[in-house]
Amino acid sequence: MAEPELEVRRSARRRRTYTVFRERGRLVALVPARMTPAQVRELLPPLVEKFLRREAQRTLPASGDELAARARDLFRLHLAGRTGAELPAFTIRWVDNQNHRWGSCTTGEGSIRLSSRLRGMPTWVSDYVILHELAHLFVPDHSRAFHELLADYPQVERARAFLQGYEHAVNAEGGGEPD
Ligand SMILES: [Zn+2]
Repeated sequence: MAEPELEVRRSARRRRTYTVFRERGRLVALVPARMTPAQVRELLPPLVEKFLRREAQRTLPASGDELAARARDLFRLHLAGRTGAELPAFTIRWVDNQNHRWGSCTTGEGSIRLSSRLRGMPTWVSDYVILHELAHLFVPDHSRAFHELLADYPQVERARAFLQGYEHAVNAEGGGEPD
């Protein structure tokens, strides 16, 4: 998979080993400071690929409590700066019968449901859907104000494209948008 956002950071403390991780949605590689650009170009791609493969296999927490904890973390990282308000009380759970929607949010009762189809997807995709539904706790529609809330999450466009591509592949009439 092509990875458009990779930041290579050189670390004087590193001697030989490379590390690939994600920081606020962005892919970062720590490489030893004395490696030449040619060495980095040669050694990095397989490690990035391995990281992305592992990331894609990682599954989200099954239980409501752990899932809610993850949602709160995502809120702190990507939404809190824009909502200007605390996260209201909410519940979040997986559902198996949501085959035409990725997620939904009943704003009155603060209940979020996520399609279990998301569990096999890269976490930056399911994180986007969680953030999308959390944003609905503040703005129920898809107005401009809603999209502005999500603007701090770096993978919005990429995640939407991923979901649309997935829908297109399995079901030509699917819209591929979370509700
Ligand atoms: Zn929505």
